[in-house]
Amino acid sequence: MTENNHEKIDILSLSLSELEEKIQQLGEKKFRALQIWQWLHVKRVRDFDKMSNLSAQFRGKLSDVFCIKSLIISKRLASNIDNTVKYLYELPDGNHIETVLMEYKHGYSLCVSTQVGCKMGCRFCASTIAGYKRNLLPSEILLQIYETERDSNINISSIVLMGIGEPLDNFENVTRFLEILRDKDGNNMSLRHVSLSTCGIVPKIYDLADKNYGITLSVSLHATDDEKRSEIMPVNDKYNINELIDACRYYLKKTKRRISFEYALIDGVNDSIEQAKQLKRLLHGMQSHVNIIPVNKIKEREFTSDRKSAIRFQNMLVDLGVNATIRRTLGSDIDAACGQLRREYEI
Ligand code: SAH
Repeated sequence: MTENNHEKIDILSLSLSELEEKIQQLGEKKFRALQIWQWLHVKRVRDFDKMSNLSAQFRGKLSDVFCIKSLIISKRLASNIDNTVKYLYELPDGNHIETVLMEYKHGYSLCVSTQVGCKMGCRFCASTIAGYKRNLLPSEILLQIYETERDSNINISSIVLMGIGEPLDNFENVTRFLEILRDKDGNNMSLRHVSLSTCGIVPKIYDLADKNYGITLSVSLHATDDEKRSEIMPVNDKYNINELIDACRYYLKKTKRRISFEYALIDGVNDSIEQAKQLKRLLHGMQSHVNIIPVNKIKEREFTSDRKSAIRFQNMLVDLGVNATIRRTLGSDIDAACGQLRREYEI
């Protein structure tokens, strides 16, 4: 590209009201912003020159002031087992992120990344190994949806913020993304079709509850006592299990949305009957659901688990009256779990 986009405003990261303000500052009428908004978020053009209901002069002005970012598909891996497709996207600054498209009975779901890398350091997680680089911009989160829908020619019906990164460590950009996504003149997506997964940044769970977006909160719990959890998740040293569960109870009270607890099962670490009982005590009286994930093997780590252990642990929980399911494994032939592909590119 010959153009220097660095000083231009990233138009896909703006809310409609911010765009209206900017357009008025350029001496244009407010309704023009809505026209541009629909070109960007409904028709999804990537070039101001395609905005045919604007004058050529105005389009020229727009491209002097704004840029429309885009992502490049660096790699596209399609599973032979199911319809899972994993994308490795290159960001405008050359960094890479991963996005995974999954097919379910009710439609397509997209797992998006929120940061380049991750600071959280969970011991079993591949995303953390290549190191943290930066937060994704709202536009870069949104574009994972736009580029994937364009490439695959399908409509995505639900979004999970469960790819690379810790979404609550990028709170401002993630919430801005959600607000753009739900705008009724744009994507008009009900945020009830969005799930956000966090390792447990407690103050931000309160902030998210107060926003009352209606999104499902998934909490990566993975252990039932502080000693064990701190061993595998350093974030637990900052916010312990009791503080985390209190925040989840607040989220539930505020939003009336059932909380989902992710539990990556690791043989010999968190799969005993004592842990199942402890889980029951922790979640007592809370509308919730435990999602057991047999831990994915990653090259650099020694943890293992399999489906059999997951079924054993699920049975223990169900016998105790705890609502528990085992996460379906999709795209196992393409390492669909996030972080694994980016790592090969960055190191
Ligand atoms: N940072 C957020 C979201 C990204 S990780 C979070 O921590 O929730 C998405 C989910 O995958 C989390 O539950 C995470 O703990 C889990 N996960 C990471 N590595 C895994 C692995 N090797 N096996 C199974 N689950 C894993």
